[in-house]
Amino acid sequence: MKLVTKPMSVAVRKEVDVVVCGGGPAGIGAAIAAARNGAQVALIEDRAFLGGNITACYVESCNYFLHGHPFDVSGIYKEIELDYRDQFGSSDDIRTDFDPHRFSSEYLKIYLDSKVEKEGIWLRLHSKVVDVLMEEGQVKGVIIASKAGLELISAKVVIDCTGDGDVAASAGVPFEQGAKRTVWCSPARSTSASPGWTAPRSRRSWIGKAWSTSTRSTGRRLPKG
Ligand SMILES: Cc1cc2nc3c(=O)[nH]c(=O)nc-3n(C[C@H](O)[C@H](O)[C@H](O)COP(=O)(O)OP(=O)(O)OC[C@H]3O[C@@H](n4cnc5c(N)ncnc54)[C@H](O)[C@@H]3O)c2cc1C
Repeated sequence: MKLVTKPMSVAVRKEVDVVVCGGGPAGIGAAIAAARNGAQVALIEDRAFLGGNITACYVESCNYFLHGHPFDVSGIYKEIELDYRDQFGSSDDIRTDFDPHRFSSEYLKIYLDSKVEKEGIWLRLHSKVVDVLMEEGQVKGVIIASKAGLELISAKVVIDCTGDGDVAASAGVPFEQGAKRTVWCSPARSTSASPGWTAPRSRRSWIGKAWSTSTRSTGRRLPKG
């Protein structure tokens, strides 16, 4: 591949104690915990909303843990679930076909925005961590890309909650991708078929394979067509 070098400087957008990269469940928990321990916290999220795969991929039934299942859930997750339920109730008015106790992704996005604001966390959406600033072998900040261009968020502590280890990879940490030998990642699974969409015949074979692999235990079937 041909390479070019472009000398450039990056504006220091924010200096904080802790920068959390990725606004999914892990990042939200980390950011709130850090803020409650007195740290000035920045939360950086690539998408237009918080919640990670819960809101982006409609993993709404993840909150079934609190409803008759033998899991002992506590801490910030439990607090969010109960607080959300007080404000928005259950979501069976929107989709009646699954567990009525689930979150609604759209309401959860609204809830999480106000939650992190209340916790005093500085949030940047539409901002992707694309690089790190290293000094003497330590990560001293992250470079984010947004419509504002490249900016540095410098921090005493950098927490990687990107789900993909983007910060660690940028810092040069060795990694493997996907399953051993095949390098396959998880397939798109049920989100590609569940909203009543009928796949074209040419694509049914691989969708069917992914569907049956991931939902074998539920007994659900691909729609006919
Ligand atoms: C289809 C599907 C079904 C699932 N079903 C269940 C289930 O039934 N029950 C259950 O408990 N779990 C389920 N899961 C798993 C669950 O969603 C994940 O375990 C959980 O979301 C992981 O949280 P996380 O915060 O680590 O990562 P994620 O949810 O992936 O969040 C990572 C966040 O980081 C952001 N990000 C990534 N890279 C960057 C970057 N470079 N810069 C800035 N931001 C970045 C992403 O946009 C995302 O918002 C399912 C997942 C999928 C995809």
